[in-house]
Amino acid sequence: AIVRPTPESDAELAFEGALRPKSLAEFVGQAKVRAQLQLLLQAATLQNRTPDHILLAGPPGLGKTTLAMIVAEESGRPLRMSSGPAIQHAGDLAAVLSSLVPGEILFIDEIHRMARPAEEMLYLAMEDFRIDIMVGKGAGATSIPLDLAPFTLVGATTRSGLLPNPLRDRFGFTAHLEFYAESELEQVLVRAAALLDLPIDRSALAEIAGRCRGTPRIANRLLRRVRDYALVYGGGAGLGAVHGALDLYDVDELGLDRLDREVMTTILTRFDGGPVGLSTLAVSVGEEAETVESVVEPFLVRIGLLTRTPRGRVATRLAWKHFGLQSAAPGTV
Ligand code: ADP
Repeated sequence: AIVRPTPESDAELAFEGALRPKSLAEFVGQAKVRAQLQLLLQAATLQNRTPDHILLAGPPGLGKTTLAMIVAEESGRPLRMSSGPAIQHAGDLAAVLSSLVPGEILFIDEIHRMARPAEEMLYLAMEDFRIDIMVGKGAGATSIPLDLAPFTLVGATTRSGLLPNPLRDRFGFTAHLEFYAESELEQVLVRAAALLDLPIDRSALAEIAGRCRGTPRIANRLLRRVRDYALVYGGGAGLGAVHGALDLYDVDELGLDRLDREVMTTILTRFDGGPVGLSTLAVSVGEEAETVESVVEPFLVRIGLLTRTPRGRVATRLAWKHFGLQSAAPGTV
């Protein structure tokens, strides 16, 4: 199972699966990453070997899982899916690795959350397609080497900075996924609306594209809420339905959701704009530090509401303006 910071219903996951592009050509945006992957896959095909290990880094919902599936599809190889939280012992990983068929693609989502002993086993597996299995305990313990079928590891992480260097170094290529431009999100939405058989105005799609935090997953999800709204209230999927649905689900004009706003208003009102340390901030909003850092903050930084400094998080001038607040300390803003 793929663990997400926000739980999703089965229906949402099924919907997401149905909208996943199946080829690099169908995958919208990330032109650089697509070209890089294409080259890597073609070179491997020409030399008749398994492609190098690939690390996909970036905030949730930007297409890491989708790309892993596309890598398998385009290279005509089977895909095995796992995730860091599911690998809590070296034995869990040994079981997966030893059962791979030659050339298989192994996708490990949230690879930074794998247990340390498993991580160490992975170094050797990635480098030499070999692992050492420990049997017995104490003085009688021995390690038995086990050869593995050659495989390609595709790791995904929301925080490449958290990966230990030896692991990061063993990937032949790291793709950094960026937030999508509005024009790209419009393409994602046009495609999704067609697949959903939903007649919707171009202006409505543009509005959703501007309010989905630069994230295809959120774009698709908002589209579904707009469809619900149009279904229930009638009047078609136009701008009215977009505004109605987005207001109802607390998405503001910058696309910020409830947690984004809570993080920002906490920094502004409780810490007078900062600096405030990540862990203090996380406790104040009742979230895990990892969620605040890898899910919430990247977009706030990207749209210029927040800066991360060595002394902590600081709200920008734009943030004070957007939230219509003023600093209590005169002269600071
Ligand atoms: P991640 O693994 O990075 O969290 P996913 O690969 O699960 O993200 O993508 C989430 C959803 O967004 C998928 O359902 C997919 O349909 C859609 N999506 C992501 N990237 C793209 C893209 N470049 N083009 C079209 N749809 C995309």
